[in-house]
Amino acid sequence: MKKIKVGVLGATGIVGQWFIHLLRDHPWFELTALAASEKSADRPYEEAVGDRWKIPYEMPDYAKGMKVRDCTPDLDCRLAFSGLDSSVAGPVETAFAEADYVVSSNSKNHRMDADVPLLVPEVNHDHLEVVKRQKTPGFIVTNPNCSAIPLALVLKPLLDSFGVAEVFVATMQALSGAGFKGFELDIVDNILPHIGGEEPKVESEPLKILARVQNGEFVNAEIKISAHCNRVNVQDGHLEAVSVRLDRKPTLEEFKGALKTFNPLKGMDLPFAPDPPIVLREEDDRPQPKYDRDNGKGMAVTVGRVREDPVWDYKFMLLGHNTIRGAAGAALLNAELMKVKGLLK
Ligand code: NAP
Repeated sequence: MKKIKVGVLGATGIVGQWFIHLLRDHPWFELTALAASEKSADRPYEEAVGDRWKIPYEMPDYAKGMKVRDCTPDLDCRLAFSGLDSSVAGPVETAFAEADYVVSSNSKNHRMDADVPLLVPEVNHDHLEVVKRQKTPGFIVTNPNCSAIPLALVLKPLLDSFGVAEVFVATMQALSGAGFKGFELDIVDNILPHIGGEEPKVESEPLKILARVQNGEFVNAEIKISAHCNRVNVQDGHLEAVSVRLDRKPTLEEFKGALKTFNPLKGMDLPFAPDPPIVLREEDDRPQPKYDRDNGKGMAVTVGRVREDPVWDYKFMLLGHNTIRGAAGAALLNAELMKVKGLLK
């Protein structure tokens, strides 16, 4: 099978580095273009990154000598994965869509556009039909925020089985979620109780992810979400303490059963789809970022400590690998879904 040519915008950043790692040997996609800011452009990738290679794998040989380009829409690829800083991502991604590229983005800029899917394939693959409303020759699809993805993934089977009325979530988010800035934080012997702009995203994005599509428009889920977001001294993996109030309170076994049996992509043979997408742990001390973030090659969400809540209905912990399931891996799974749906020829 001829592979589809893909490029990475923001290739030098943390999310970009994960793309370089995850795209190595991908059965459907071939990495043919890298782009970043002017300061990286026209340099070999290894030189442009310099001492900023921060992910826990060696830089793959295939990328080292590739020339980094600037982010103008004349790259040799059909699809552009975007890991661009949000200060520039909006107009750059639009320019690529106008030049007939398919864009699979991690940035916040287009997430809430009325004609852009906020895609989590296990939750809302029907949302892809909305890209037909985009007026550009190409189109944009976005990942949700890295804490919103695992939260929505776990809420989906609960919503379908019991209805979800209210959610309280307190996040403990890893340093890599802040990109390069994460390595400069005052985080030793410390927890930072504020992440700029994060709580509104975690409170609003799941409503669009869990929306139904009616006449080509998103009708958001009617769930109230209260989020507290904190930065903690962990390299990768966002841990979230969640309490939920459901429309119908199930037994504990029914609650766990809904999570365990959830596997809507089974049989679609998407290379990055985790099987199962939700891993349920029964031990009192799991999930932990260090031991559970790589479940399903970093694409599964791990849930543990499911128990009754004296104020709400149930409470539990969940964990998602923020730079894989919450970023590069999620954008890759979105691209795989677009391919099997015939949107990426
Ligand atoms: P990062 O490490 O700071 O990397 C930012 C990238 O943007 C670099 O490649 C940088 O290139 C490029 N860039 C900056 N200014 C530019 C300009 N003027 N023109 C072209 N390129 C420019 O950030 P990150 O953590 O990888 O995040 C990338 C995006 O993904 C952000 O929008 C972020 O919010 C989102 N996101 C991140 C995570 C995560 O866990 N880290 C999760 C979900 C979503 P140079 O090296 O050349 O400056």
